[in-house]
Amino acid sequence: MTTEGKVYDIIVIGAGILGLSCAFHLKRNNPGKNILLVDRLSDVGQANTARSNAMFRNTFTSWDNQVLSDTSINFYLEVAKNGIDLGIRKTGYLWVMDERQLSLNERHVQKMIGNGIEIKKYDRADLESALPSLRTRFQDSDQEAKLLKLENVAGAVFGIKCGRLDPDKLSKYYEQQFLTLGGKILFNTNAKSLLLEPNEPLGIEGEPFVWQESRIVGVRLEGAAQSEIRADTVVIATGVWNNEILEPIGIDGHVKAKKRQLFTISARGNKHLSDLIYNSNFNDLKVLPYVILPKSGCYLKALEENNEFWVACEDDLNRPFINTPDPNLENCKAEPSYYEHNVYPILKGYFEEFENSKPSQMWAGLYSYNTLDSIPFVFTESGLIVAGGGSGSGIMKADAMGRIVDAIYRDGEKGEAALYGNVHYPVEKIGFRSRAVQREEWVI
Ligand SMILES: Cc1cc2nc3c(=O)[nH]c(=O)nc-3n(C[C@H](O)[C@H](O)[C@H](O)COP(=O)(O)OP(=O)(O)OC[C@H]3O[C@@H](n4cnc5c(N)ncnc54)[C@H](O)[C@@H]3O)c2cc1C
Repeated sequence: MTTEGKVYDIIVIGAGILGLSCAFHLKRNNPGKNILLVDRLSDVGQANTARSNAMFRNTFTSWDNQVLSDTSINFYLEVAKNGIDLGIRKTGYLWVMDERQLSLNERHVQKMIGNGIEIKKYDRADLESALPSLRTRFQDSDQEAKLLKLENVAGAVFGIKCGRLDPDKLSKYYEQQFLTLGGKILFNTNAKSLLLEPNEPLGIEGEPFVWQESRIVGVRLEGAAQSEIRADTVVIATGVWNNEILEPIGIDGHVKAKKRQLFTISARGNKHLSDLIYNSNFNDLKVLPYVILPKSGCYLKALEENNEFWVACEDDLNRPFINTPDPNLENCKAEPSYYEHNVYPILKGYFEEFENSKPSQMWAGLYSYNTLDSIPFVFTESGLIVAGGGSGSGIMKADAMGRIVDAIYRDGEKGEAALYGNVHYPVEKIGFRSRAVQREEWVI
């Protein structure tokens, strides 16, 4: 292998929450290695991590997602317990369901309980008393409910170790830890392409040829003093842009991007909405939990500190997948009409308090789907480690993903990662060579 000009042992591309966690765990467990984190933006966590709803939950149908999220949440809670503010609010997740959804999901809920996930079940009467504002029954004469096919509420499933955090604070935490350990970061630097070279170069134009063994030996950069940097290992954590960097050299990035939107509804000057934010029946914070309604994954999150709600809804069918998204997320815009015609009618149907509400702010980002099973992946390929496929829940699994990337770096795909709390996880389960996961059913 050519080592001439090599400066770094590892380059991590992408300083979103995933790349940050990878960089931190790699540096922590390999302190003697020179590690460089590269991002084309000017700070950490500025792309989809910043546009996220930043909720966390361990209530997933697949065991793998349960473990990835549960151990990550435990880590975040421990960091917070040690005095670092990550903006954590353990509000709980309230999945409100109609009769059909309750019965379809019963087996998943039983499995979660069997796996030790803390869950409380509500029947309709419990729910009506804990959350009186929620409309649980629709009259036959209610033409709007009929048109929207809003079903009567039959009950709810409440996830206890769930809530929200501040993605900016979490990003800054990982950055700080990485820098303190001696890691380096290059901002405003685009990784334009990957350097692929033969292991035994012959100096002939057109190398590598098919008969030569070759590997990735670094990256070509734009915006940095050096036009290329070499490293033994390159980690790709570029989220929805995995395909942009991998596909030109014939490696499948395994992600498809899809737009997701969030809308802010201010409760200022609206007593009914303000009152809805507070509720002493679900959590110690005495605030409304994160509520997912039975229709179209419509959800609301209360932010008592701002006297506002963030609302959205599943934005899936009839929405295009994007293979290589625009690098500039500013071009990915929220649509006021999406709120008006899709989110609002459902919200108002279940909570009268939202009558006439209009968004004061809105933005959009991109989900990075692994369309195979909606579970993240990590795989290796000739000098590369590729991670991604957060599928709309990448922040809540980021810590476990960083530990898995580190385990693969040290022991390869047959290795075992020690997730937070010393939970052992065979990393090949989320690779593509011996993938052994069940499709996730609870994606919102
Ligand atoms: C509206 C919305 C709501 C969401 N809600 C939640 C939620 O409630 N909970 C949750 O856990 N997750 C949620 N998610 C998903 C979560 O935001 C993502 O899973 C997570 O942020 C992905 O992190 P990442 O580091 O993979 O990607 P990103 O944060 O997008 O970071 C990728 C980074 O790579 C950099 N990059 C890309 N290509 C290059 C290159 N060639 N050279 C240099 N740099 C490059 C980018 O500049 C960027 O900084 C939501 C997402 C959206 C859009």
